Amino acid sequence: MSYTILDLEWDSVYYPAKDRYINQILQIGAVKLNNNFKVIDTFERTVRSSISDKVSGRFTRLTGITTKDMLAGVPLSTAVLEYNAWIDEDTVTMTWSNSDLYTVMDNERTLIKGIKFNIDYYVDLQSYIQNEMILLGHEVKSQISLADAAEKLGVKIEGLELHTAKDDSLVCAALLKKYFNKKRFFAMVQDTSQNNFFKRLAFKPVFIDDINSKYVNKEELNFHCNKCGAPAEQKEAWKYRNRWFFSVFYCKNCDRMFSARICFKKGYDSITVKKKVFEYKKAQSSVKKDGEEK
Ligand SMILES: [Zn+2]
Repeated sequence: MSYTILDLEWDSVYYPAKDRYINQILQIGAVKLNNNFKVIDTFERTVRSSISDKVSGRFTRLTGITTKDMLAGVPLSTAVLEYNAWIDEDTVTMTWSNSDLYTVMDNERTLIKGIKFNIDYYVDLQSYIQNEMILLGHEVKSQISLADAAEKLGVKIEGLELHTAKDDSLVCAALLKKYFNKKRFFAMVQDTSQNNFFKRLAFKPVFIDDINSKYVNKEELNFHCNKCGAPAEQKEAWKYRNRWFFSVFYCKNCDRMFSARICFKKGYDSITVKKKVFEYKKAQSSVKKDGEEK
């Protein structure tokens, strides 16, 4: 098994055919590592956009890639086919955060129908390195940048300006070489041909906002008193606000009211339920109701 670190540079551009912005890939960079994490080959292709005839100023500042470079590039389909021919079979592909994969999927779907990046086994290197950093006692904010991780872990590479695809990949390679733990690394390897890996990744979780939805397990709507544990009686209809259903419950044992809330999040093939119980405070609506009764 070998390792490939893939890094993409993309520019956000308005795409009239889809009437939305798209992060179009303008450079593919990668390094191939042997089992000792020595760089044995590198790959870099600059892509000529099929949508726009220039790159943004921000993109040039970040990557050093100018409009002239982009115009001298190859079509994305060619770059991807050349990349696929370059990588080994049975390689573990890594990217720094899985956001590259979202861009890959979007570009495959909209710009190069029928051509796909060859990614059989995958590891999110950001998530792996963050985990190693935590084990080393570093304080890690979520989604640490590659530059920050390299600095914190003391990985310096002379002569590299961050943010060209190949240079970023070389920094990733150095981090991986220094912080490789076989057991923890292989626990994170995902076979992209299994369990609808890409579909799962593309799926956006949905928060259920209808209490009568088939995704709401009615059993979950029962609450127990958080003081004595007895089953409680629901006193108000469920109200939905900002992802949560709210209601008020009454415990006979304790002769007290308490508030409860519950949230149903639908994932690709699962429903996550969160429940919370908190002190009862008379809501605005029930105050009004009292007033009406008088
Ligand atoms: Zn109670």
